[in-house]
Amino acid sequence: MTRLVERNHGEATSSVTVPISPFCRFRKALHARTSRSAQGPAKNLAAERLQIKMRLSQMNRSVFHHLYSQSMHPLEMIDEHYRQALRTWLCGGCKRPRPGIGAVDVTVEKESTRSRAALNLVAGTGVAIARREVLFTLGVERVSRDLYLGNVLRRSGTPYEDLVTFRGRRALIVRGKKHVANGQCSECGHAAYFSMIGGRYLHGLPPPGHDLFESQLWGLVFSDEIARGLDLGSWKCVTHEVLPVRDKPLDGLGDIGAIADRDSSCGN
Ligand SMILES: [Zn+2]
Repeated sequence: MTRLVERNHGEATSSVTVPISPFCRFRKALHARTSRSAQGPAKNLAAERLQIKMRLSQMNRSVFHHLYSQSMHPLEMIDEHYRQALRTWLCGGCKRPRPGIGAVDVTVEKESTRSRAALNLVAGTGVAIARREVLFTLGVERVSRDLYLGNVLRRSGTPYEDLVTFRGRRALIVRGKKHVANGQCSECGHAAYFSMIGGRYLHGLPPPGHDLFESQLWGLVFSDEIARGLDLGSWKCVTHEVLPVRDKPLDGLGDIGAIADRDSSCGN
């Protein structure tokens, strides 16, 4: 999201495009609410103003958790199903689900399902896999509300009951500091981002209304409040990192559209 800022230095007026961080958006919203105070019921405005202030304050002390797969043994789709995916939901450019795609089913080679990793990936698709039982420790209602779940199928068409595909209704980019690569698929427009491990963080608070988010590393992001009740150490073959929330990114890229919204009903 961008805004135009005009600067007049006496001789000339120039226009530059400046990214707005989520932090700035909250401040802008707070200002807008305050300046409209004469138009609406004072009680409601005071409550809204308090809510925005609380959210700003929360940003300074929030941490989130990020889980993603360490497995070196991704699941492999059966060739004919992979070719069919390329004709339908899978982008041939970036090898990720096309924009607007929700839940996906994948038909995989039996030999590739042997990994016991709690989180995994389907090779060449950008589709994340989870062990159903472990995933649902995050809360059945929460998982069902915030993730699109799909089937992992045998060649015969019967599902593996212990595995699901998942895609976040909201996807976040977990940002880094060094060795950052950022780009866009020329075919579908998908935003790609990669940073080396270490020192990762979220740029701004995730949007309200959801508790679970998918990361660009096919992982899961959730709040410290949710993590407190969980035994994250029991998630096999998974990396766990703690993400602080920063209002200014440290990778020199500004606001790069940190949030992908796959859920048109979300609002915001
Ligand atoms: Zn693409």
